[in-house]
Amino acid sequence: MKSETQKSELAGQPDGAGERVAGESLPVCPVCRNTEFRTLFEATDRLYHTTDRKFQIVECKQCRLTRLFPPPGAGELRAHYPDTYWFSPEEETVDRLGEIYRRFVLRDHVSFVCRALESYQTDGLVLDVGCGGGLFLKMLAERGYRVAGLDFSHDAARLAWRGNGVPAVCATLSKAPFAPGSCAAVTMFHVLEHVYDPHSYLAEARALLKPEGCLIVQVPNAACWQLKLLGKRWSGLDVPRHLWNFRPSDLDLLLDRTGFEVVRRKYFSLRDNPAGLATSLAPALDPMARRIRRLGESPRSQLCKNLIYFCLVAACLPFAFLEAACHAGSTIMVEARRKS
Ligand SMILES: [Zn+2]
Repeated sequence: MKSETQKSELAGQPDGAGERVAGESLPVCPVCRNTEFRTLFEATDRLYHTTDRKFQIVECKQCRLTRLFPPPGAGELRAHYPDTYWFSPEEETVDRLGEIYRRFVLRDHVSFVCRALESYQTDGLVLDVGCGGGLFLKMLAERGYRVAGLDFSHDAARLAWRGNGVPAVCATLSKAPFAPGSCAAVTMFHVLEHVYDPHSYLAEARALLKPEGCLIVQVPNAACWQLKLLGKRWSGLDVPRHLWNFRPSDLDLLLDRTGFEVVRRKYFSLRDNPAGLATSLAPALDPMARRIRRLGESPRSQLCKNLIYFCLVAACLPFAFLEAACHAGSTIMVEARRKS
């Protein structure tokens, strides 16, 4: 679902620079406007191996927001996004078992959004930014909601239409073909950490919302136990595609400054948290990484690796539940309302 934002034109910053202060080597912090940072550690693309280049993870000296440095320029960033990043071409084929699994693990997302929509009882469109293959929107449509998807990837938008019957357009949020104030909800799952200018991005989402509309955002949680324990091996860093690593407090401040108030938080996602830990521990087993890296595995080897990975994910479940119960889960999903 992430692919809407990745391949550049990110929130109106096509040069990849973000907002810079003259004479400074880093853009300003989008949360506190500070320009001074300290280096925490170095990391590289250990999941998809799109580059050997080392990047730094740096921390704002004032508010402690962490980010990737140097942020890759738009052209370079595009090269770090494989063509089928974050959606599976198999969704278009008849893969009943795969769809049953994907539907099962998406229930956290669907129920979180349904609860938000029910509490406001407002009509209008549900727009999923970075809709990927569109299964999440299909599940909402089955519950009677009017939905639309937005994705930067043409292939993803086509898959949403053809594979899942979901109206989807290939566009960026800044050029989304929807009238201001037309959306009951805007959802963005694992999108905000990819954009150059999250502040502008949230402002654009706000403009699309009805006055009583809600925004649902999910990002990896940089205050999770997994980052403390695993450091640069934590898959939630996803170097060099994740430009920002938000803690819940960073997200709260950013949303506050873009005219939102956080009303609900969830620290667990069945799709993301245990699988993210499994991928951190054994990146070579991650099914999407293996597909994207085109490792040329035999069907037997593929099945074996998938089974081992699945067992590892199941073994990671208790830890993922525990850290989420302590509000330190590896993802955070928030529901925010427009402030008047
Ligand atoms: Zn800061």
